[in-house]
Amino acid sequence: MTLRRAHGLVAVVTGFTLLLAAGCGGKSPTATASASPSASPSASPSPSPSPSPSPSPSLGPTPSKTPTTRPTTEKSYVLQRTSGSSGVALTFDDGPHPTWTPRVLDALRARGVKATFCLVGTQVKGHPALVRRIVAEGHTLCNHSWNHEFKLGTWSDAKISSNLRATNNAIHEAVPGVPIRYFRHPGGNWTAAAVRVARGLGMSPLHWSVDPQDWRRPGASAISARVLKNTRAGGVVLLHDAGGDRSQTLAALPGIISGLRTKYRLIRLPDTF
Ligand SMILES: [Zn+2]
Repeated sequence: MTLRRAHGLVAVVTGFTLLLAAGCGGKSPTATASASPSASPSASPSPSPSPSPSPSPSLGPTPSKTPTTRPTTEKSYVLQRTSGSSGVALTFDDGPHPTWTPRVLDALRARGVKATFCLVGTQVKGHPALVRRIVAEGHTLCNHSWNHEFKLGTWSDAKISSNLRATNNAIHEAVPGVPIRYFRHPGGNWTAAAVRVARGLGMSPLHWSVDPQDWRRPGASAISARVLKNTRAGGVVLLHDAGGDRSQTLAALPGIISGLRTKYRLIRLPDTF
């Protein structure tokens, strides 16, 4: 599964990804481009690394605009789309999963990579030992809702808050006191309410800058090639360690890690942890 062999196909498929709804099961009506709109087109470090959430505009309701013509005032909220440094952050969503998460952890540990895991409350409840392992091995945590509710952001603030707090409580039952500094909305279906509530609970709304659509299972070489093609300094890469058969993601990981490391540091979030 050489990247070279798959390259032509990947170029076509990657173009498609700009038109597809993003991540986490594909029901998102909002997410647009998978490539970062703010990252430098070169491999050099970001010209203005910031420790705070990116000032880039929020996602529009349709994918009709290209990344370079995004409106800047369309929504009133700001999402974190970058790592806050020149480092690149790998993020894994929808776990922990008893089959795939241990294998992902093994792959990361074997290569000395720290990452960020966006956990679903019901999965946490069922597999607390995996949460303990994630934390024990130096990775950081992100709240990904209680049961991956795609429309969570359309709920009342009180109901959103209840959902997010239940998830945090489950995580804290597994690992008392562990910091949970991020929230990622299922499917990237952000709303102002979801962002507001997450911030109120002390969590930054973590989006991404690179989405290889690994959950669609396009093949390990395609997943790896998409990540390497689209990642820039400060990138946040969306991957999945649950939500289905993640063998392709797992198979793509060595190439992703070795390829990214030729240009970037791989970091957990926040970089200054
Ligand atoms: Zn998800």
